[in-house]
Amino acid sequence: MQDVNKVANEARKSLSKYCMEECKSYCCRKGYIILKPTELDLVIGDKKDKLMEEESLRELSFSGKYSFNLSNSFGSCTQLKDEKCLIHQNVNRPSVCKEFPIFITGKIIRISPRCYGHKAGLLYPFIKKFKELGYDVEE
Ligand code: SF4
Ligand code: SF4
Repeated sequence: MQDVNKVANEARKSLSKYCMEECKSYCCRKGYIILKPTELDLVIGDKKDKLMEEESLRELSFSGKYSFNLSNSFGSCTQLKDEKCLIHQNVNRPSVCKEFPIFITGKIIRISPRCYGHKAGLLYPFIKKFKELGYDVEE
């Protein structure tokens, strides 16, 4: 039987061309991501002061994590260049970036409704596989 993580990785990889050529990395340009303190330097680097000043980067009370608005004055995540993520090969990149748009929790798989590749139906063959593997899929 196929491993669910392997199928999820195949599904994410299958979107790569669409992400760059059609969607133009929408999910790195719009919305928010939550960063752990250990991810902050890697993603924000020397832009921290400017992003804090314009309130595109905020420390969340109690958790110590940061909320990063991707629609900031730089126009996107600070690691996006020519529709590509500069830290894509880095194992320490944020977990949300590794997992988007497919999130696995126990026997439930959530597919982000914000993903244009998913809206275009590109993930349907994989959703079928997830269900065959006994997972509930929320879209
Ligand atoms: S929204 Fe979906 S299709 Fe668009 S860049 Fe992000 S992962 Fe790719
Ligand atoms: S770190 Fe990379 S994948 Fe994550 S939002 Fe920024 S550009 Fe996108």
